[in-house]
Amino acid sequence: MSQGRVALVTGASRGIGRAVALKLASDGYRVAINYQNSASAAQGVLERIRASGGTAMAVQADVSSAEQVKGLFSAVAKELGPVEVLVNNAGITRDNLLVRMSDEEWDSVVRTNLNSVFFCARAAIRTMMKARFGRIVAMSSVSGLAGNAGQANYAAAKAGILGIIKSIAREAGSRGVTANVIAPGYIETDMTASLADSVRERALAQIPAGRYGSPDDIANVAAFLVSDAASYINGQVVAVDGGMTM
Ligand code: NAP
Repeated sequence: MSQGRVALVTGASRGIGRAVALKLASDGYRVAINYQNSASAAQGVLERIRASGGTAMAVQADVSSAEQVKGLFSAVAKELGPVEVLVNNAGITRDNLLVRMSDEEWDSVVRTNLNSVFFCARAAIRTMMKARFGRIVAMSSVSGLAGNAGQANYAAAKAGILGIIKSIAREAGSRGVTANVIAPGYIETDMTASLADSVRERALAQIPAGRYGSPDDIANVAAFLVSDAASYINGQVVAVDGGMTM
């Protein structure tokens, strides 16, 4: 199904990225697990893939840095080959009301959540176009679709992802490359674990499915979008949110 393709998942040490890496490995992809700080968690993902007979590597790189992204892509190319499937997943939040938001809170979120997509997609696109095959998926958020009080930085970065991904879809669509966006709703990971109970309850009340999502809910959709079966889906935004934003 995967033809042993090389997949790079950014921010794959924890949460959604981890679930995507494990799912792609179980589908037969050779997986590069990118992480920034959580070395032992990334090692755990690597060992789990290897224990079930898969091929993977873990690469430390801050994807908000153009320089480190270059290093990331050359490390993957050297050990596994050129990246054929790119899942831009790494992301952070630094929530604050606009009136109190610092330059640092704005910059760090835009660099990590949006600049990273530019750096990684730019690093991947040439070989994908030459090979007449490529898959790029980026994690946006329902906040990027609808905005969210306290998340002006995050919502702006996540909305920006739609612009870059749709542009890539137009630039590279005729070369067998697709670029799509997943907009997760409220998914149970470290990112949402620290939210106040009142915020969690308010979110739950807006989800027709009546439950929060799991990382696997997102991983299953990512795995479909990068598969051959999804070759005619390009430039789309798939909300995986239990009906929250319909
Ligand atoms: P998470 O549990 O906080 O995990 C974030 C991952 O991103 C970690 O593996 C982290 O690596 C990595 N990361 C952060 N900054 C990085 C950087 N500069 N370079 C490389 N890796 C970096 O988050 P999550 O909930 O799984 O979210 C994953 C993605 O889905 C994010 O883009 C997030 O915005 C989006 N999303 C999440 C939700 C949700 O409800 N959870 C909803 C909508 C969208 P280290 O730990 O190694 O530093």
